[in-house]
Amino acid sequence: MEAETGVLKKKYVRCIVCGEIMEEGTLICPVCGVGPDKFVPYEPETSGYHNDTKEVFIILGQGIAALSAATAIRERNATCGILMIGEENELPYNRPMLTKGMSGGVSEETILVHDKQWYEEQNILLLNGKKISAVYPDKKEIHLQDGMAFMYDKCIYALGAVSFVPPYKGSHLPEVVAVRTIQDAKKVRELALVSKKAVVIGGGILGLETAWEICKLGCEVCVVEMAPRIMPRQIGPETSQKLSEIAKASGITIYTAATVEEITGIDHTEAIRLADGTLLPADMVVVSCGIRANTEIAADAGIAIGRAVLTDSNMRTNISDIYACGDCAEFEGMNYALWTEASQMGKTAGANACGDLIQYSSDLYPVTFHGMNTTLYAIGDNGCAPGTKIRTVEGSANSDNDLELYYLDQNLVVGAALLGDTKNASLVEEAVKGKKQFNELFLNKNSNNTKGETKMEKYICNVCGYEYDEAKGEPDNGIAPGTKFADLPADYVCPICGAGKDEFEKA
Ligand SMILES: Cc1cc2nc3c(=O)[nH]c(=O)nc-3n(C[C@H](O)[C@H](O)[C@H](O)COP(=O)(O)OP(=O)(O)OC[C@H]3O[C@@H](n4cnc5c(N)ncnc54)[C@H](O)[C@@H]3O)c2cc1C
Repeated sequence: MEAETGVLKKKYVRCIVCGEIMEEGTLICPVCGVGPDKFVPYEPETSGYHNDTKEVFIILGQGIAALSAATAIRERNATCGILMIGEENELPYNRPMLTKGMSGGVSEETILVHDKQWYEEQNILLLNGKKISAVYPDKKEIHLQDGMAFMYDKCIYALGAVSFVPPYKGSHLPEVVAVRTIQDAKKVRELALVSKKAVVIGGGILGLETAWEICKLGCEVCVVEMAPRIMPRQIGPETSQKLSEIAKASGITIYTAATVEEITGIDHTEAIRLADGTLLPADMVVVSCGIRANTEIAADAGIAIGRAVLTDSNMRTNISDIYACGDCAEFEGMNYALWTEASQMGKTAGANACGDLIQYSSDLYPVTFHGMNTTLYAIGDNGCAPGTKIRTVEGSANSDNDLELYYLDQNLVVGAALLGDTKNASLVEEAVKGKKQFNELFLNKNSNNTKGETKMEKYICNVCGYEYDEAKGEPDNGIAPGTKFADLPADYVCPICGAGKDEFEKA
């Protein structure tokens, strides 16, 4: 109770980039690495629910989902037993930092979520370095590979995911790595220090982050992306294009619409062969092709599986007293595989396993990338959704490498991408989450940022003299105040005489 009171007295901030909650005064977000300019004050929710019991909660896994579940249980139940079991030898750590600090060397101490003492204080027993082999729901037992077995009252399945490595010929070679664990990150660094040429397969965020870290260690790096452009799901074509140019200027070559045929080499990697026959020499290969949820143990236990372990909004599976959360879980068809979602799911699973009743709902998180001497912040729609009327508005930029794009639907800001200058990220987040109007976003902008401020103009219809005032818009016709003339749809017509847009002139 004392610990709980202490926690409540502390002040917290939320990272607008990744959603991590931290104590006020934290200088760097431990999850995504951004600084205090991306932190906003945060008031933690407190659950009034408390029920001390002698139950045993077994949490399978030792990632953030598992840890969040354990924390939520202890907050509500001071006397129960909590056992976390995981196969990694380290204490739970901030997995997203693996690709962010790779070139400098990732050390366990700097990326731990909590030190050893915290687990002792919370009376959470962490059995790490142990592989779970089976769950028997009928006997309520968990079995480990070394023969140990434990009985549970409530079980939380939080076994996360593994990196997906497509079955290319040559993917078994010793210099082929996919980054999921601290050991993988260390291996990439060691290889990069002795390699001249590296190929990263996959042009998503993790692939690009890794490419940049390897490049900083002096390697010549190529990124091979199967899609026609990098990060196709997260950002629009303009941002992909600009980021590719920046990558090129940073010394990273990007191949798009490129399919890997095989990794060549007998005992060691020699090259990547693309489907068109191109050979890319490679002393090392990093595969960054997404993840696969760890569902096997759940499936063997009779737990319903889709792409991952199926849950309801309370994170319950189809088997009573078994909950699932994190990268191994799927809710409403989504397997987010994001740190903050895993944490929220874990918290929900833990709370509900205790008898509290809380619902999981996903939030809108931005995509961020730091590297190649630039920063990317993108949130919401990327302007590519078919059938939606989304317009792109480009602001002026500080340099050729900067980009500031807003995606509008009926003049409401539904998405944005900031590349280079991301200081308006918090305003943009507010606008996208609040579905604000485009002009509201600019009116609220930092007064010393003139770059995004737009002057409202008037346009006169040459046929009838009607005046379109951008500041007023045409609310009766569904055109919000602040809508720039240039942003009116191509089929806009004068409300008085029906003349087309090209009949208008600036007043
Ligand atoms: C390199 C990298 C960078 C990332 N960057 C970001 C980012 O910037 N932002 C973001 O939001 N997300 C990021 N992510 C994703 C984020 O880290 C994950 O969504 C999150 O860590 C998932 O947490 P989890 O607890 O569900 O699973 P995991 O962290 O995978 O934890 C599952 C644990 O279960 C253990 N386990 C599995 N099977 C067994 C078994 N049979 N027996 C015992 N133990 C077992 C595993 O060893 C692991 O420790 C990144 C991921 C990686 C790999």
